[in-house]
Amino acid sequence: MRIVLASSNKGKIKEIKKYFGNDVFAFSDLIEPFEIIEDGKSFKENAIIKAKAIQNLLPNDIIIADDSGISLPALGAIPGIYSARFAGKGATDKDNLFKLIDELKKNNIKITEAFYTSAIAIATPYGVFTTHGFMYGDVIDEARGDKGFGYDPMFIPKGFNNTLGELDENIKKKISHRSKALNLAQLILRALK
Ligand code: IMP
Repeated sequence: MRIVLASSNKGKIKEIKKYFGNDVFAFSDLIEPFEIIEDGKSFKENAIIKAKAIQNLLPNDIIIADDSGISLPALGAIPGIYSARFAGKGATDKDNLFKLIDELKKNNIKITEAFYTSAIAIATPYGVFTTHGFMYGDVIDEARGDKGFGYDPMFIPKGFNNTLGELDENIKKKISHRSKALNLAQLILRALK
């Protein structure tokens, strides 16, 4: 069975392809892309919504969906599940990054704790399975470096002094929320084979 990613986020697709090797397809390589309404109340619910939406069209494949985002406990856990549309519908990664930096500045915060969450849903002909991964660290009120995507230029992982925008992408692969959730997803995929 093919593994198909239920995402059109280029940064995520790049990371997930890097994780699995070349044996995975983005759904938009196989079918006409369409909008999926993510109206779940958690990362997990939204990951399941995305995986099932693609599974309806590709019922014989294994569909992997990641719903992810960053949360800042000091500011009421924003942007959380709204990370992709924090600066509004159709916002780019850069719009969202600079909106979060503005929020820090408005609140006179130079640095504060933050964490990324990744919920992975695996939709298979045998049922839907989910896993989670987290990455903890701090966010700062400026963007540094151009590696990674999304909020990476303002996020310093625990134990490091640089942002994910500055650190080598192989470091992110070892410590990221997405890799941790994918490691657990691999166990499920192996059990299904
Ligand atoms: P989703 O595609 O609806 O799951 O939205 C994910 C959003 O969360 C992305 O658009 C990014 O803004 C943010 N995000 C998730 N994972 C990462 C990451 O690894 N680095 C930076 N931003 C991320």
